[in-house]
Amino acid sequence: MNKQFMSARGLTLAKTGGSAFGGKKIIIANWKMNLSIKRSLEFIKKITKSKNEVVIAAPFTFLCEMSRHLKKKKIKLAGQNVSQFGAGAYTGDISAKMLKEEGCSYCLVGHSERRIYFKETDKEINQKILQLLRYKIKPVLCLGENASQRAKKQTNKIIQKQLKAALKGVKNPQEIIIAYEPIWAISTFQKSKIKRSASLKDIKEAHLMIKKMLVSLCKNKARQIKILYGGTVNPQNSQEILNLKEVDGALVGGASLKISSLNAIIKST
Ligand code: PEP
Repeated sequence: MNKQFMSARGLTLAKTGGSAFGGKKIIIANWKMNLSIKRSLEFIKKITKSKNEVVIAAPFTFLCEMSRHLKKKKIKLAGQNVSQFGAGAYTGDISAKMLKEEGCSYCLVGHSERRIYFKETDKEINQKILQLLRYKIKPVLCLGENASQRAKKQTNKIIQKQLKAALKGVKNPQEIIIAYEPIWAISTFQKSKIKRSASLKDIKEAHLMIKKMLVSLCKNKARQIKILYGGTVNPQNSQEILNLKEVDGALVGGASLKISSLNAIIKST
């Protein structure tokens, strides 16, 4: 067996139909409900050049101004959420078409904070993905198990359910990016002061398992689907995480709010 095909629980990249891994990585900064327009504009000026694809998932109200300032830079914009509806009487919602008009190339979908605090369902997440694909915005599908599901060894079952529901009716799954974000590894859900990411072994195993599921759901298109890791990625661990062949990039929350940390992460591979 070629050494590059690492095995985890008997599964190899070779068996999962090859790899979309390698080449440049995608680093998505999830700013959540933080910063201000003024600070965001100062921030993006300081982002260093990188061979990687750098994406900022900013609050809706920053997008228009940021996209004007990002025209010359290679940095891309993402929404943090999108309506499951196309248009109409849905007070407070933002449609995929509106995100497109604001210059978004990506949009997060199904982030654990939305699933937990806003009770988003798998069905709504699927509808959001279909809306985004209509407007050629790449959905970044966030999924992952919580601590008690992991303790009960339900990780595979949970991810399989989330994945299957999210991909229902999707004709071009290769347009979707998956972000494996085990809830127990996301910094804001951790009670202790010292925040921990998943171990490299956990990350490798989960990504290989997701790839295998994608192969069974999407056949040969699975090869092209990128899988990012999210959960306490920071300048101390980004290099070892991003250098894993199984990891196509990172979704970064807390550490993306500090320019020195984000720059260190995007330059770490
Ligand atoms: C997130 O919320 O998507 C996330 C990965 O956060 P953090 O990096 O702070 O764990």
